[in-house]
Amino acid sequence: MRRRHKRHTCSREGCPGTYSQQMHDGGLRYCSMICSRIDADLDELIDALRDSSDPGAEVTLTEAWTTLVQAADLFSDYRRLREENRRTNSRRYPGRRTTPQPLTRPLADAAGVQG
Ligand SMILES: [Zn+2]
Repeated sequence: MRRRHKRHTCSREGCPGTYSQQMHDGGLRYCSMICSRIDADLDELIDALRDSSDPGAEVTLTEAWTTLVQAADLFSDYRRLREENRRTNSRRYPGRRTTPQPLTRPLADAAGVQG
């Protein structure tokens, strides 16, 4: 049986993440549960803003929306790095496999690594 390598792009706007044909066949349209959740929450916030007649609540909802968009952008950056890593370490291109590099000092400090 021929292996299927086709990958689908995440439905969340701006997300570079991909997901497998198997996930697509199962009805998924996002690269991760987080992307699915972000999209659902953004829709929910837009609906709440549209239905709101309370200016105080609108300020909070707008701030919540802005914060979630920032979080979404950061998560997209993370997914881009994971995609880069996935392609580089793909089993299809064993010659391109990279070896893990030692953590740079600030990262090692943050992770509590001694030495
Ligand atoms: Zn995604």
